[in-house]
Amino acid sequence: MAERVEESAPGRVNLIGEHTDYNEGFVLPMGLPLRTTVAIERRNSGDVEIESDARGHASYRLGEEQRTGEWVDYVAGTTWLLRERGTTLGPMRVRVTTEVPLGSGLSSSASLLVAFLRALRRAFELSLDDLTIARLAQEVENRFVGARVGIMDPMAVSLAAPGSALFIDTRSLTFERIAIPDTMAFVVIDSGVAHRLSGGGYNQRRAECEEAARLLGVASLRDVAADASLDAVPEVLRRRVRHVVSENARVLEAREAIQQADAPRLGQLFSLSHASLRDDYEVSVPEVDRLVELAEAEPEIHGARITGGGFGGAIVAVSRPESGDVGARIAARYERETQRHADVLLPPARG
Ligand code: ADP
Ligand code: MG
Repeated sequence: MAERVEESAPGRVNLIGEHTDYNEGFVLPMGLPLRTTVAIERRNSGDVEIESDARGHASYRLGEEQRTGEWVDYVAGTTWLLRERGTTLGPMRVRVTTEVPLGSGLSSSASLLVAFLRALRRAFELSLDDLTIARLAQEVENRFVGARVGIMDPMAVSLAAPGSALFIDTRSLTFERIAIPDTMAFVVIDSGVAHRLSGGGYNQRRAECEEAARLLGVASLRDVAADASLDAVPEVLRRRVRHVVSENARVLEAREAIQQADAPRLGQLFSLSHASLRDDYEVSVPEVDRLVELAEAEPEIHGARITGGGFGGAIVAVSRPESGDVGARIAARYERETQRHADVLLPPARG
């Protein structure tokens, strides 16, 4: 009888600190109650056979991993990378089941990668700590899938703990778990506008930040002081820099607001972050702007912002804990106005 192991990993929502991770800045994501589960059954011979409830069936031979541009790249890229590091694996059946919506900005990709790496760790007795798993997951996306993602998603997913957010300094990779007080709750609503991280916008912003850092003579935008002169930088890049510098400051303030259970202050920071992403970083879209406005019109909501890479995707709002079905009300208004379906992803529908 083949031994079967099963591991899981959560999705995540980024509370604040958007487009700061590839600038060596600060981020504050939180694990979600939605998870990806991966079961592995080792076999004596044959291929890697994968069954995903969200995507169907795929297979490949160990040692012959090829980039296909399909979802199987996340699995094949992982076994490819482990072999490159000198790890011996064997044939297996992989079964993936997920509650994390794919491509909604809740990091289904990192969730799948971390759950798979955890299952591999157990099935093949690998010694990998949680931070190493996060770094491997990032490397798979960067080098095999071809998505230039930062370290935030895999770290958030690999190191999340229930009831807390994760403050990460993406330069040193040091992190701190910040307990969420019971006076605060979070609502996440997907706008129904699909985003593509591997599309042009995200990579273009990264390139703009690199160019701005070069012009300013710093290693990364993390090193730009709040009052630094930006005269050497053209207007558009100046706004990109302004977003990154102000967003880093907001993450530090948000950490304090959570520690002091100051939900109204956290809400203000969310609103400021959204305005900065909309006007300076230009990664929002009109539908998402409208969803934020509708959320902020609700008395139970302290503030809201776009979350994730942008160009569509979801919003996150900080609300009173007893806010009941405020998410459903916001979604219904949005649907009436835009004729688009909005999904309330947090709190998760149960039953
Ligand atoms: P996000 O990580 O925000 O959900 P991405 O575009 O980074 O969005 O990743 C989504 C992709 O990850 C999917 O299109 C698919 O290729 C892959 N993926 C994630 N979860 C699964 C799953 N359970 N089964 C198969 N593929 C998955
Ligand atoms: Mg992803």
